[in-house]
Amino acid sequence: MLEIRNLHVHYHKVAALKGIDITVPNDGIVTIIGANGAGKSTTLRAISGLVPISQGEIVFSGKRIDRLAPEKIVGLGVAHVPEGRRVFPNLTVEENLRSGAFLRSDKAAINADFDDVVRHFPRLKERRKQWARSLSGGEQQMLAIGRALMSRPKMLILDEPSMGLSPVMVQEVARIIRDIVERGVPVVLVEQNAEMALRLARFAYVLETGSIALKGPAHELHDNEHVRRAYLGG
Ligand code: ATP
Repeated sequence: MLEIRNLHVHYHKVAALKGIDITVPNDGIVTIIGANGAGKSTTLRAISGLVPISQGEIVFSGKRIDRLAPEKIVGLGVAHVPEGRRVFPNLTVEENLRSGAFLRSDKAAINADFDDVVRHFPRLKERRKQWARSLSGGEQQMLAIGRALMSRPKMLILDEPSMGLSPVMVQEVARIIRDIVERGVPVVLVEQNAEMALRLARFAYVLETGSIALKGPAHELHDNEHVRRAYLGG
């Protein structure tokens, strides 16, 4: 469904990605793990058209997307939940969710999807009239994911959804991600929490200073000695 070939990205003259190849099939979870500054967020930003690429190509559902504007890429069905769960603090939970459907005009279907999303996230349902700024970190993460689902994505990309969350909330977010995948939406998951990511994903890439250092079935990487030492605390 998504093919990244020989992707290079530079910030000014500094290379953040040095020719990476990533394939995301049309089901399941692909994870990209790696240390701070390895280029994980940059990879996701390049997919979403938020940073210009300097070389290579990104193909989604058979179509080149690497020169398209971000809103065109959302329109094709790629929803991106950025790092730091950016919600609109001064809108209510419901307004935030509905803002995810900004490119859609199918009102009845939007209402149905809204009902569906809040059914998925009971905490958001209880708080639908509350300002987003008053939510806890975990609830804001759910809201950011729920908002992305309101665009009816064909693919969801998640940047560090577990960051800053309590262990209980991390479990909850993991459950939600599994649920999304079971409904047929493939997920690209960027995580520093390698343990969680390798447990959830089918296939994994390890990014080190802008290059793919390792790739393979997630369970195999979980048992890989280098991965264990560098990313799983021994
Ligand atoms: P983290 O887990 O810390 O978010 P990451 O793997 O997502 O790390 P990126 O954010 O993709 O890494 O950063 C990759 C490299 O690009 C880093 O060296 C970073 O300093 C640099 N970089 C990222 N964004 C910019 C920017 N806007 N301007 C200049 N350099 C940047």
